[in-house]
Amino acid sequence: MLRNDQLDQWDRENFFHPSTHLAQFARGEAPNRIITTGTNCHIEDRDGNRLLDAFAGLYCVNVGYGRQDIADAIAAQAKELAYYHAYVGHGTEAAITLSKMVLDRAPDHMSKVYFGMSGSDANETNIKLVWYYNNILGRPGKKKIISRWRGYHGSGLMTGSLTGLDLFHKKFDLPLEQVLHTEAPYYYRRDNLDQSEAQFVAHCASELEAMIEREGADTIAAFIGEPMLGTGGIVPPPKGYWEAIQPILEKHDILLIADEVVTGFGRLGTMFGSEHYGLKPDLITIAKGLTSAYAPLSGSIVSEKMWKVLEQGTDENGPIGHGWTYSAHPIGAAAGVANLKLIDELDLIANNREVGAYLNKTMKEALGDHPHVGDVRGEGMICAVELVQDKDSRTFFDPSEKVGPRVSGALAADHVIARAMPQGDIIGYAPPFCLTRAEADEVVQKTEKAVKSVLG
Ligand code: PLP
Repeated sequence: MLRNDQLDQWDRENFFHPSTHLAQFARGEAPNRIITTGTNCHIEDRDGNRLLDAFAGLYCVNVGYGRQDIADAIAAQAKELAYYHAYVGHGTEAAITLSKMVLDRAPDHMSKVYFGMSGSDANETNIKLVWYYNNILGRPGKKKIISRWRGYHGSGLMTGSLTGLDLFHKKFDLPLEQVLHTEAPYYYRRDNLDQSEAQFVAHCASELEAMIEREGADTIAAFIGEPMLGTGGIVPPPKGYWEAIQPILEKHDILLIADEVVTGFGRLGTMFGSEHYGLKPDLITIAKGLTSAYAPLSGSIVSEKMWKVLEQGTDENGPIGHGWTYSAHPIGAAAGVANLKLIDELDLIANNREVGAYLNKTMKEALGDHPHVGDVRGEGMICAVELVQDKDSRTFFDPSEKVGPRVSGALAADHVIARAMPQGDIIGYAPPFCLTRAEADEVVQKTEKAVKSVLG
């Protein structure tokens, strides 16, 4: 292909990149990388670098890059019918088939799936459904949503509010007032180091109870949580956490939204994180792994309990006033069908379990004893290395030192992509499910080297 020598300049002059230091980028002080192609776990940039993508894009390219079956399904759908809407009972074979495939894989008590385009819009949908539900049930005051500090649920107005990371609030006038944040289930970063894991879980539960008491259960509609914290630090919940939280929600008639945008469709080695940790949600958010990001598509899976009330609502009020032009877009749906088939045919969740366990184990063995590695944790095909200034006193580095970005930068220079998570010096790994053991070895060895090069 002819090389466009102006592309760098056009990039700096025209392209507004998300989650980027805008001023530094525009001035040319921050690097850009233009990706051209990808195969399995590797991507290539236009400078000819081939990189092992140990974060699967944004933990979304679960089946790996360059899958012909999905590309063919997208092309066939685009040729036959690129678009028709899903309003007023319209549909396409791809969207209807995908809804059946999703429900076949979801927990038994789930009833229907509403398709959107992104994890953020699916969570916006979920909050609207929760509010609608309580209005239909005659409880107009029961509207607040509890989220957790360090939860990540998107970056819209409501979803950015639900997200419990300062960067997503600062200067955006967020969070909105209907949103409350409770304790993050992050044992390693607990305030009281004397607490056992069980005591910390009891503390999280009592903080939640106290919040409900303070606000009044009749004002609280739902609790939203990722089965395992993702962008907030890749933190598996402490043992017994969900067992302690769910009865409190049930007692106060508070709905549970399981945000499975990262964990849905296999990331933890089970089809859903809810299955992995024993959650019984009223709504499940899905996105990334639904299509492995070959096309944008998300979904809100609605439980039978909520569905009945939604039906009652439309009997009383007419059609539900909620829809996006691109809801259930046929190209996204065709990608979803091909993607879920591929996961089954190649038994990718089994590979994920096996190689993911190997990645987690070898990472712990290689880095666990390093004086600046405070914690190595993970589950299925997801892993994190948390860097600290002092291991014993658990002192964290000053954010201005940018230790996490420096380590991920050293890794990238060595042709491995890992993600410096946005809050804390945490290096995240969530490779495609087709990762091989040899690739896992490369990730671990190069991480060891990168940590040494930055921290000694
Ligand atoms: N929920 C979770 C758990 C996520 O990790 C993300 C994105 O990373 C979102 C929601 C938002 O999804 P999107 O970026 O597609 O809007």
